[in-house]
Amino acid sequence: MMKNVLKEYFGYEDFRPGQRELIQNAMANQPTLGILPTGGGKSICYQIPGMMKGGLTLVISPLISLMKDQVDSLNASGINAAFLNSTQRVKETKQIEKDLLNGDYQFLYVAPERFNQRQFINLIYQLDIKLIAFDEAHCISKWGHDFRPSYRESIKSVMSLPHHFTIMALTATATVDVKEDICDLLHIGEQYVIETSTKRDNLKFILDPTYQKQKRLLLFIKEHIEDSGIIYASTRKQVESLSEVLRMEDINHAIYHAGLHKDMKDENQSKFVRDDIKVMIATNAFGMGIDKSNVRYVAHYNLPQDLESYYQEAGRAGRDGLESECLLLFSDQDIKLQQFFIETSNDEAVQELKKEKLNKMIAYTKTKQCLQATIINYFNPNEHLSKCGQCSNCLEEVENYNMTTEAKKILSCIVRIKTPVHKLTITKVLHGERDDAILHAGYDRLSTFGLLKEYHTSAIQSFIETLLFNGFIFEQQGKLFCHESARDILMGDTQVRTYYKSATYNERVKITTIGTIDEVLLKQLMDVRKRLSDDLSVPPFTIFSDHTLQLFATKKPTSKDEMILIEGVGSYKLKHYCPDFIEAIKAYST
Ligand code: ADP
Repeated sequence: MMKNVLKEYFGYEDFRPGQRELIQNAMANQPTLGILPTGGGKSICYQIPGMMKGGLTLVISPLISLMKDQVDSLNASGINAAFLNSTQRVKETKQIEKDLLNGDYQFLYVAPERFNQRQFINLIYQLDIKLIAFDEAHCISKWGHDFRPSYRESIKSVMSLPHHFTIMALTATATVDVKEDICDLLHIGEQYVIETSTKRDNLKFILDPTYQKQKRLLLFIKEHIEDSGIIYASTRKQVESLSEVLRMEDINHAIYHAGLHKDMKDENQSKFVRDDIKVMIATNAFGMGIDKSNVRYVAHYNLPQDLESYYQEAGRAGRDGLESECLLLFSDQDIKLQQFFIETSNDEAVQELKKEKLNKMIAYTKTKQCLQATIINYFNPNEHLSKCGQCSNCLEEVENYNMTTEAKKILSCIVRIKTPVHKLTITKVLHGERDDAILHAGYDRLSTFGLLKEYHTSAIQSFIETLLFNGFIFEQQGKLFCHESARDILMGDTQVRTYYKSATYNERVKITTIGTIDEVLLKQLMDVRKRLSDDLSVPPFTIFSDHTLQLFATKKPTSKDEMILIEGVGSYKLKHYCPDFIEAIKAYST
């Protein structure tokens, strides 16, 4: 039943870690807390039980700017949802209240401050509330990095509502203190806390303590010029000056900080969310209200105040699960600025807490350990993460490593595949990827298939680059051949050490496990999505995620029967949006 709803409305076949347990707890009427990483799929955790229980699900969120996207997203899947917040006109509010009383909505999003309004309380007394979800629940806690007193205060009113409702709280970042605080306040038993790893496999963390920040940033942006990205800076002034730098380079972008007029902020945010511009330069005022799933990179131009803020901001990259990068640039100047911010607080206890957190942030910039593992360990000291294999520290470590065993595996693989192939194919075979082309060629039956599966693809590529550099293999028209000297390695007479480092992580590895994406078709499908989303006045990613479009551009489905098999396609989207994509794929293929 749960799975049917998942496929029918959201188009997904399987639950992600933690989702099933949270939904089951809610269905068993147990108050429950979910700590799932950004992009882990928290919304579905309350949306599915909400739909299964019937009646109304009330979603409390401190982020007004997110509500519209959430509601758009639900409506785009054929689910009736609305929000009530201070941005609406009286007439609109009245209409929604009327519709609510008619039972027209399954989901209602509100900000915590609504509970201060008598009129709102009167309204919800008359509604059939079955589930109440506390989104961004870390904001309830005084120990969180983004405490909202009004959120904490609203709990009393919620708890005294007469309905028989279940509570679910959700957050991406919770230290042990925050977790305990949330559980106390919402009466959640320890056994009903569902915590999955905060690890984000698709994020590549890069640390760069450079004194040439501006140059490095420009290079980074230019390398990713086709992609959506956010650049965070500490101050408004810094945002403005970076904007000037980008303008001089003719890089289209928008800015966002608290000093801008509201209309300007809304307009810039909307341009970014709708893919009208690719780059956003902002202070940390931007982003809490953004669930744009196809942000491909987040670059920090200054050191953030603590690891919670950093992980949350950096974590806005790659919510769709596709590979994305998080670059942190910083200098000693940044540390002084953060210390100055801390000193402006007159509460001594707060100052101490912040200093401690800043020290951990500074320690992160100095560590030689895996960057992702360092962050995970900060949130959950009990979770042991081995190296991620793709952050700048892990990749540095690869330098001067004795890679003779790996070299033997790569060379045998090239020898076993009789007809010369491209290095991407060799990488995929060694990584053990079963995409259509590999299966078709029967490479999955080779004894060398999956021999380097424990490595990230970029590491395999850098091994290959080293062999190329040393002349053990050579490339002709993009295909790999073994040189005679390769025999020396295979016979055990020669050792190879890696020399490759930073160059490999600057290079984006365009390998996916889904097969070969037809990039030209993908571009056309993105245009179809943009046209549809403009017509409907919703952000493009609410129509289909980038991942779903990539699957379209790989599998090229030309009928509804083929479309429904694709991840991200549910019944509603099949009926309303797929015809346009089928038409485009057919036109492209003929
Ligand atoms: P979060 O709020 O945890 O950051 P979202 O709820 O916005 O994440 O979900 C992130 C993305 O993952 C969305 O595009 C969502 O549709 C998708 N998603 C959620 N659950 C699944 C699932 N079980 N399988 C595939 N994709 C999923």
